[in-house]
Amino acid sequence: MICHCLLIEVGSELVLVDTGIGLGDLAQPNRRLGTSFLAITRPRLDPKETAIYQIEALGYRASDVRHIVLTHLDLDHAGGLSDFPDAEVHVYRPEHRAATERRTRGERERYRPSQIEHHPRFHLYDAGGEPWFGFDCVRNLNGLPPEILIVPIVGHSRGHAAIAVRTPIATSSTDAPWSQRSGAAEDTWLLHAGDAYFYRGEMDPNRRSCPIGLELFQRAVAIDDDTRRANQERLRTLARDRAGIVRVFCAHDDIEFDRLRASHF
Ligand SMILES: [Zn+2]
Repeated sequence: MICHCLLIEVGSELVLVDTGIGLGDLAQPNRRLGTSFLAITRPRLDPKETAIYQIEALGYRASDVRHIVLTHLDLDHAGGLSDFPDAEVHVYRPEHRAATERRTRGERERYRPSQIEHHPRFHLYDAGGEPWFGFDCVRNLNGLPPEILIVPIVGHSRGHAAIAVRTPIATSSTDAPWSQRSGAAEDTWLLHAGDAYFYRGEMDPNRRSCPIGLELFQRAVAIDDDTRRANQERLRTLARDRAGIVRVFCAHDDIEFDRLRASHF
């Protein structure tokens, strides 16, 4: 499994969707990630896999990341926040509340106060009832262009959300890069679905599949498994009905990651 972060260039600023595991986690893995996460997932903890390392390798500075939009605050998505301490951090409010209150044993395990003790500059949002392909969404995040949306898809956690990004991308690796197309390309969307599902086969509209271990893991960690499954069904329908318009990917599937890297956008 991988932690799939999305880096968006908006003029001279960078926007990061999810932060994965960060340098602070590598420095203090037991305290920041917890012993059960380490035992279950056995993360590689290689600094070269952190978002900050890869962003700097592209020639940017960490301070160029002005905004971070999070699918949720689980430790494997929020760990890199402290590598970008001055960024504005955009989160669906019920998720921030869940991470602050940590009401259940599972929530005390998944949300790590040590990862946010630098006091990130949170901007919190309620669902605004704005439509997006049949989902509610939050538009107009503070300081961000209207092409970046929070789309609540709860169940995995109390305030889990997907992040939608409108972009004229190539829809397959055989398409020309959008910058080389002539005229206006049709708008398409990337949808970072976070942990709404874990395995690419779960988005197969004809024959959903998932390795049994991942299936059980998702059930075990969901705060509301019925809602999670119902929302995953809606996501599967979206991926089917809007194929070619909305490209859905999740946080942890390595093959989806490789396919997206091979696309030019
Ligand atoms: Zn995750």
